[in-house]
Amino acid sequence: MKIASVIVDVPTFQTNKPFDYLIPEKFEEVIQKGMRVIVPFGSRKVQGFVVELKDVSAIEELKEIVEPLDAIPVLNDELLYLGNQLARQAFCLKLTAYQVMLPPALKAKYEKYITLKKDGLGKLPHSLEQFFQEKGRVSWTEGEKKVGSSFLYRAVKKGWIDVYYEVKDKGNKKLIEYFRPVDDLSTFKQKVFATSRLGKVQKKIIDYYLSDFRPHSTTELSKQFGNVRGSLQSLERMELLKSESFEQYRDPYKNRTFTKTKPLLLTEDQKRAIGPIVQTIEKELHQVFLLYGITGSGKTEIYLQSIQEVIRRGKEAIVLVPEISLTPQMVERFKGRFGDKVAVLHSGLSVGEKYDEWRKVQRKEVQVVVGARSAIFAPFENLGVIIIDEEHETSYKQEEVPRYHARDIAILRGKMHRCPVVLGSATPSLESFARAQKGVYRLLTLEKRMNEKGLPDVQIVDMREELRTGNRSMFSRLLLEKIKERLSRKEQIVLLLNRRGYSSFVMCRDCGNVLQCPNCEISLTYHKVTNEVKCHYCGYEARTPNVCPDCGSEHIRFFGSGTQKVEEELGKLLPNVRTIRMDVDTTRKKGAHEKLLKAFEEKKADILLGTQMIAKGLDFPNITLVGVLTADTMLHISDFRASEKTFQLLTQVSGRAGRHELPGEVVIQTYTPEHYSIQLAQKQDFRQFYQREMIMRKNGQYPPFYYLVQIQVSHENLQLVVSIMEKIVLFLRSKLSKEVLILGPSASPIGKIKNKYRYQCLIKYKKEPDLIDILQKVQEMFQQDQRSKNVSISIDLNPYTLM
Ligand code: ADP
Ligand code: ZN
Ligand code: ZN
Repeated sequence: MKIASVIVDVPTFQTNKPFDYLIPEKFEEVIQKGMRVIVPFGSRKVQGFVVELKDVSAIEELKEIVEPLDAIPVLNDELLYLGNQLARQAFCLKLTAYQVMLPPALKAKYEKYITLKKDGLGKLPHSLEQFFQEKGRVSWTEGEKKVGSSFLYRAVKKGWIDVYYEVKDKGNKKLIEYFRPVDDLSTFKQKVFATSRLGKVQKKIIDYYLSDFRPHSTTELSKQFGNVRGSLQSLERMELLKSESFEQYRDPYKNRTFTKTKPLLLTEDQKRAIGPIVQTIEKELHQVFLLYGITGSGKTEIYLQSIQEVIRRGKEAIVLVPEISLTPQMVERFKGRFGDKVAVLHSGLSVGEKYDEWRKVQRKEVQVVVGARSAIFAPFENLGVIIIDEEHETSYKQEEVPRYHARDIAILRGKMHRCPVVLGSATPSLESFARAQKGVYRLLTLEKRMNEKGLPDVQIVDMREELRTGNRSMFSRLLLEKIKERLSRKEQIVLLLNRRGYSSFVMCRDCGNVLQCPNCEISLTYHKVTNEVKCHYCGYEARTPNVCPDCGSEHIRFFGSGTQKVEEELGKLLPNVRTIRMDVDTTRKKGAHEKLLKAFEEKKADILLGTQMIAKGLDFPNITLVGVLTADTMLHISDFRASEKTFQLLTQVSGRAGRHELPGEVVIQTYTPEHYSIQLAQKQDFRQFYQREMIMRKNGQYPPFYYLVQIQVSHENLQLVVSIMEKIVLFLRSKLSKEVLILGPSASPIGKIKNKYRYQCLIKYKKEPDLIDILQKVQEMFQQDQRSKNVSISIDLNPYTLM
């Protein structure tokens, strides 16, 4: 094979196809499909991915590849295929699709290092071998100087040496040095016994480790034993301990020793649910399961035992959990069962650590990955199951290019690997539950809670009543009374301010009426600058009225109050209360989320006040009261999923109280107590909610009855944006079937961002076999349009935010 087809890192659609390059003779044995290479492009040198090797090219005069970047391919055949699919369905560049599947370290500045492998002993030139003896590891550049790069590449291929990347730029993050035992406890003991001489301090350190066998920081050790640096270094040379640095914010739980847990004896319900999953694992069949079970019904145990089955067969498993619930508690359950077989991928890790975890997968050192959305691309080659916990979470959809949904990728991979995909939730998305009802997915249910404890008592407070009786505070009398009660009993309280920052609605405080679009059954969004209300779906707009169109009251105003305001009011009402506030502002820093929760767990505060992010993963025995300040705020955002999101959130947050010994109570404050999503959340009745909501979706022609595509165009010149969008809509109307609904062109809900006007159209369809191709044409047409320079377009299949 003398020719490589390369996707180059030139971000335009004109260059979104493979270019052929000659492979120089010295790299002939080195370059493989899925590697990154440096190639000349125009007058520059750029990076690229080798997607194919071949002997002939249609192009006569080919340029040569400059050099490979990797010694082992970073993308396997499956991921290359997946990348192509992704590029097609997310309407992005192939390059972008490949990049999103890789750890960010491969995009950052890094240095390549090599280490000697056992098989390489005696095989290397003397100069290099000596290097290894002296230093343990050698930077690629050093090695290259000694023996030349093509030798190094060959040595990697032969398995003599190993290559790894170390991210150069650690930024200015503060690092903490830890020392951790190299081996497990018994080997550690043996090694210690076998060591003849230990210094006094060394001995103390060893004893310390023997009594508390986990990583300890240098700071901690010096506090105990004074100057320990020299001793630690010699213990490291003896291969008893090894040093590692972690960024300060992070709890390096990957090095904690986890208490080993054993599989629990499954209940009859659990057995019924896991049976079909295990069968498909055995028979190597692809099938999507929807595991619907209320919180605490034992879903996680089913995940664990399915994975166990997969590992037993020598296969691998991916578990996706929402970023926010990827807490140490969650990780512990998987590590506790499968120990070192588990890699964890989440955004709290530094670039280098993410790479380390990814590399464990690539090198087949682990069989399980637990991670957030992008972990779906873990480069396993023999998947036995893919699990998506809290499958309804919208964070599984990436909101930036490439706009992919992890569920879709999971199903694609499940088909390729012929393995089951398990979607789990206590409040499944309407789409998934509908698919399960139709038999596309197979429904498995767990109806009972493990601890047989009833769900907490949920009370609804009508805030309109409060106003009528003269209470203008954000806190109803009932909620305030219950807060005081908890404070006197030293129990803890969670307060949820259900708010999404970006939109507000107009509501009458007297009758609860919310201004609705006359055409869409969607609430109108208040635009402060122009004092108008607008519909994001059809483009309807009107001046904000001064009195309520329903009851004539003047108490009509837009809503949107922040956590900070609530905190202030709390301070006024209860001067001595200790509050932890958790919202985007207080959790911006990495690790802050965990830190705040930990402080709350340690009872450093009475009240945890926060947005959506506090609804998940909290499991503290001392929480006995959950208050939802305004359940409506999310109900009235201009989103057809508003009711669904409200129901999910209220159900979830209600589950936070009384999970242990102390009984829990929930108070939901609302201006629309009659709304079905609130009433049914009170009863935790998902099935009835599903029935009701399906009727709404059917009438509104929304998913799961219709699929959606959103096309958005933006530029500083409004006229240009409008005319391009009009052209696109005309084209779509001429190409798509008569059954399709095309709404727009209309101004986007957020009509201008960073001085760029945004216009959009929304396609609703049931069956359009050629849709993707037609949308590809739209993309091409757009690229070819002379006017489209600097205009951006986005095509979003199954959008989740319609802003
Ligand atoms: P979910 O994931 O549905 O919220 P979990 O799997 O976390 O539920 O189970 C809830 C609790 O019940 C956990 O403490 C778990 O250890 C326990 N549990 C689950 N299955 C069993 C079982 N078969 N026997 C005993 N306890 C169980
Ligand atoms: Zn009114
Ligand atoms: Zn409308």
